[in-house]
Amino acid sequence: MTGRTYLAIPGPSVVPERVLNAMHRASPNIYEGEVVEMMNKLMADLRRVAMTRQNVAIYIANGHGAWEAANANLFSRGDKALLVATGLFGMGWANAAIRMGVDVEILDCGKSGPADPARVAERLKADTAHAIKVLMVTHVDTASSAKNDIVAMRKALDDAGHPALLAVDAVASLGCDELRMDDWGVDIVVGASQKGLMMPPGLGLLWFSDKAKERTAAADLRTPYWDWGPRAIGAEFYLYFGGTAPTLHLFAMREALAMILDEEGLEAVWARHARLARTVWAALEAWSAGNPHIGQNIANPAGRGHSVTAARISNGGALKLRRWLESEAGITLGVGLGMATADEPAYADFFRIGHMGHVNAHMVLGVLASMEAGMEALGISRGSGAVEAAAKTFGKA
Ligand SMILES: *Cc1c(COP(=O)(O)O)cnc(C)c1O
Repeated sequence: MTGRTYLAIPGPSVVPERVLNAMHRASPNIYEGEVVEMMNKLMADLRRVAMTRQNVAIYIANGHGAWEAANANLFSRGDKALLVATGLFGMGWANAAIRMGVDVEILDCGKSGPADPARVAERLKADTAHAIKVLMVTHVDTASSAKNDIVAMRKALDDAGHPALLAVDAVASLGCDELRMDDWGVDIVVGASQKGLMMPPGLGLLWFSDKAKERTAAADLRTPYWDWGPRAIGAEFYLYFGGTAPTLHLFAMREALAMILDEEGLEAVWARHARLARTVWAALEAWSAGNPHIGQNIANPAGRGHSVTAARISNGGALKLRRWLESEAGITLGVGLGMATADEPAYADFFRIGHMGHVNAHMVLGVLASMEAGMEALGISRGSGAVEAAAKTFGKA
């Protein structure tokens, strides 16, 4: 394959050259010098990216590890939690907590749109004894691409007069969709390095409120490695990481956060993701017009995340198109997740386009035009004018 290949899946995302280059250096001393001295600013910048003045902890882990870190710090065995699920990733977090001994009640809100806040409020109001300790919500479920309204979740808690902590999985949305931890009254934000934060996989992140820290002081699932306390303070350098630091990842993080926070600016990053998302949706809308075998998973644009779009081309079209794009165009699209099991024929009908992190117009428009070429080559019927509609949508915004 000549030219750059493009992994257009919803994580791991494209790592900017600058971030790669930042890692390409000799291993630093972990007892003194640059990495030790850069930690104050790095921790402050991590707080900025989640829009909090409170606490953050870094783990050498992926998103699954960050889920487990959250669970370990929040719960004692047998504690009750309410998890609002809108796709496979919500279910994943719930199952991790269940396996750790948490009594998780799953409020399954389907996978074709965001959760109805009224349903959540109703369930919280019924919990008059306040048995539910934590309300767990996925911000953008990467499998369905549904985006939940976190402000509405906070309001549901407040309207019910319910004291539960609000915990949000923002692995797929942080650095893509608007998220304001302190302003929105969020107690826990779960993140990972390899999606909107433009780093390689390897770092799990946990932001937590002072209230969460006090409330969970006696959590008995907390074990030494996962304990967020010493990590947030870093009384000694190694304590930030519970052991050896992820040295080169720290340089990657410093570079990526500078790009997001100091150069482009967080609000501009959100606006770019919104614009590119609308560009993708415009093409899908044109393709699906009069062609019901093509469609987006989330009908209402307000309920869609800006970092990933889940879609369908029936009769195995999605699988054929993914294969064609990989062999003919150097583009890898995401597989469908959680829509059908791998042994069902419908598994071949789903795909996802990742548009998170280090992406711009030529990358997204290139994917869409290549999809048009692939559908032409494969004889997949579709509405016309998709690439033009996408270009016009980007141009207009
Ligand atoms: C990717 C993702 C995860 C899991 O992250 P891994 O790094 O794959 O373990 C969890 N939640 C959401 C919303 C994600 O997008």
